[in-house]
Amino acid sequence: MTDTHEIYAINYGKHERKASENYIGGDPHDGPEPIVYYVWVIKGAHGTFLVDTGFDPPVAQRRNRHIGHPINEGLKAINIAPESIKDIIVTHLHWDHSGNADMFPNARYHLQDCEMEYATGRCMCHQQQRAVFECDYVVDMVRKVYAGRVTYHNGAVELAPGISIHHIGGHSKGLQCVRVNTKNGVVVLASDCAHLYRHIDEGRVFPITYNVGDVLEGYQTLKKLASSRAHVVPGHDPKVLDLYPAASDALRGWVARLDAAPKG
Ligand SMILES: [Zn+2]
Ligand SMILES: [Zn+2]
Repeated sequence: MTDTHEIYAINYGKHERKASENYIGGDPHDGPEPIVYYVWVIKGAHGTFLVDTGFDPPVAQRRNRHIGHPINEGLKAINIAPESIKDIIVTHLHWDHSGNADMFPNARYHLQDCEMEYATGRCMCHQQQRAVFECDYVVDMVRKVYAGRVTYHNGAVELAPGISIHHIGGHSKGLQCVRVNTKNGVVVLASDCAHLYRHIDEGRVFPITYNVGDVLEGYQTLKKLASSRAHVVPGHDPKVLDLYPAASDALRGWVARLDAAPKG
């Protein structure tokens, strides 16, 4: 089959926080509930696609986030040179998904029309809305538009056989998820359409939100797009690294294979 792909989740950072920070309305138990940061690699007969580009060390420091293994090291660990990457799917332009503009000099970026409209439009006149964007990262993407390196999409599009993007919105206006056919069924990389398993399983909403209704509808769409609920991979959940097998023994807790079956 030429339309099945390997998927790797590469963990590069972590933020220790309390559960109350992860939900609108807080959390009654309010214990520690850290989130982690990933980029994802889709690899197959139609080339290598990177999903999101993460943040860089200066922004990590300013925003008090910890980078464990830098993204370029994670890519190197699975034998991918950043300059070899030709296609990058940017799920949305939030600061933790859209940095490292110079790391991928030969890549074309795939973005939803309305995400750029949102990130450069009137909502950004409000501090509460723009705080989760890095101005420099948005400007870097505008520069890529002018360099002819961005392809805009509107809604659902197949980028290659077995790889498609789907506009979900909600958390950010132009947020998209990625649907990937694998030998183990159809996996959906939710990115921030569902930060943690608890969001999708408990119908709860992360505090950073453009439209709560679209977040909740999005959970249903993610489940419909995937072979099963177990095939939906949330964007910031540390449990992903426990549920899925490591890419190799040396990469345990760092790089997981999402085209394999998750535990129980
Ligand atoms: Zn986000
Ligand atoms: Zn995020």
